[in-house]
Amino acid sequence: MSDVLNLSGISKSYKRGEPTEVVVLSDASITLKAGEVVGLVAPSGAGKSTLLHIAGLLDTPDSGKVSIFGQDQSGKSDRKRTRTRRQDVGFIYQFHHLLQEFSAQENVMLPQLANGVSKADAVVRAQLLLGKIGLQDRLTHRPAELSGGEQQRVAFCRALANEPKLLLADEPTGNLDPATSDTVFDALMGMVRDTGLSALIATHNMELAQRMDRIVRLENGKLIEV
Ligand code: ADP
Repeated sequence: MSDVLNLSGISKSYKRGEPTEVVVLSDASITLKAGEVVGLVAPSGAGKSTLLHIAGLLDTPDSGKVSIFGQDQSGKSDRKRTRTRRQDVGFIYQFHHLLQEFSAQENVMLPQLANGVSKADAVVRAQLLLGKIGLQDRLTHRPAELSGGEQQRVAFCRALANEPKLLLADEPTGNLDPATSDTVFDALMGMVRDTGLSALIATHNMELAQRMDRIVRLENGKLIEV
């Protein structure tokens, strides 16, 4: 079976006005096999978000190859990349980015509707996902009427709405207090293990990282097995 994600020799720099150039990624490589959950550990500013955005086809590297299910994404049109992202990749951010004017259920329905799922089916799947994570009594609540932990749980359900094969998470509990972070992280890991997803989860919390299958550290632009 093809690897779910393969990043090979990824480099990325930002040019902040000549002659200053910030090298963020320099020959970074990683492979995620089916069902593998990998912790991505590095201090703030090391390039975790940049790497995740490149893996999730939200950004392009200066050089190197991104393959999803063995398919090299570099030569693909924007339309094809968008389709792959929508169907195969789920993304979770540190801040939930839920749409404030929509309910929890609607926030989980929206990516499904964008992917061509019928409204009736989208409701059923949204309720199923939110129920699994203990939010069955919060379906009609808007984000402002939910706690931080609940908002992040809704964001997890939204990321999983289209049954992706790859989950990319950027400090998914980094915005929560330690106790809430622990339980919300358990909920996330439960969902990931349940669905057999492959996941690359950035965190600077070593305790959380140790609950994953393996850990890679981002150091001087390269990924190093810990
Ligand atoms: P992390 O997620 O580990 O905190 P980032 O990937 O967000 O790190 O950022 C890595 C470095 O790249 C930082 O020094 C940041 O300032 C810089 N950077 C990120 N995005 C841009 C951008 N669009 N333009 C210029 N510099 C950027």
